[in-house]
Amino acid sequence: KSGLVERGAEFMGLKPPNPVVRALDDVSLTVAEGEVVGIVGESGCGKSTLGRVVAGLLQASEGTVLFRDKRLQDMPGEEAEAARLKVQMIFQDPSSSLNPRQRVREIIGAAPLHHGLTTARELDDYVSLQMARAGLDPSMASRFPHQFSGGQRQRIGIARALAVQPDMLICDESVAALDVSIQAQILNLFLDLRKQLDLTYIFISHDLSVVEHISDRVVVMYLGRVVEEAAVEELFSHPNHPYTRALLQERPSLDPVQRSFSAIEGEIPSPLSPPSGCHFHPRCPLAMDRCRIERPELRTVGSRHKSACHLND
Ligand code: SF4
Ligand code: MG
Repeated sequence: KSGLVERGAEFMGLKPPNPVVRALDDVSLTVAEGEVVGIVGESGCGKSTLGRVVAGLLQASEGTVLFRDKRLQDMPGEEAEAARLKVQMIFQDPSSSLNPRQRVREIIGAAPLHHGLTTARELDDYVSLQMARAGLDPSMASRFPHQFSGGQRQRIGIARALAVQPDMLICDESVAALDVSIQAQILNLFLDLRKQLDLTYIFISHDLSVVEHISDRVVVMYLGRVVEEAAVEELFSHPNHPYTRALLQERPSLDPVQRSFSAIEGEIPSPLSPPSGCHFHPRCPLAMDRCRIERPELRTVGSRHKSACHLND
């Protein structure tokens, strides 16, 4: 459960006295072991911030992160470090996270060696195993990142994450920069690894098709709040929240008759000054007077299905 306040950067050339962005506002997320939870929303909705808080890369100003029912902030240093290692993040652009001057062997092998998960003697075999798991040819371990394609570089990033023996991968737009055919290969690799290694995933994406393909459960975010969550089939067949419905309608369809114009009116408001009441009200075709004033709570609308909209009253 987390409320995160980040300091806002310069806004339109002006520096307001105390600019704060509530990047996450009363967000609560539970991920079961072995589950794949998709987090979807437009840019600026807080999905990346949520992923970084869970991964320990950002600290929430309020709230807690529990790992196997234990508060991370209460764990002694060593235990916390071990827990952090169990949650690894895979980013969108593998190139920017791979040191161009390091060989793949070093990129993949440095962390497990440092943490005592392998020895210098066994390192080559250890790295080969991670490369094979990620679908890379282990004979390429002495090459540099630039000698690989974009898809292969993402596989290097995945092998590096696997090398510290994680239980959970947090994938933040991990296939967004790849061609569609390569995207499918990487998504299927994630699903294979889930079976082989009992991995749990938080899968962050703006792309509904990607989220639908990989997730068991989907959380929809809008301007720092969770607006809907449900099992994947339920969400896609019976979306409840007007924002979710608009997102689904906006999906590019291969059938030109079904293809509609942008279903969501207006721009995403600035997170620095989010609209009152329901954050979605300026863009919602069904908004009522109440929506401008009163914040809708996330509540149960079906079996393991929650939505935050006054229309459910
Ligand atoms: Fe639309 Fe009101 Fe529901 Fe918000 S609470 S999604 S504005 S109907
Ligand atoms: Mg993001």
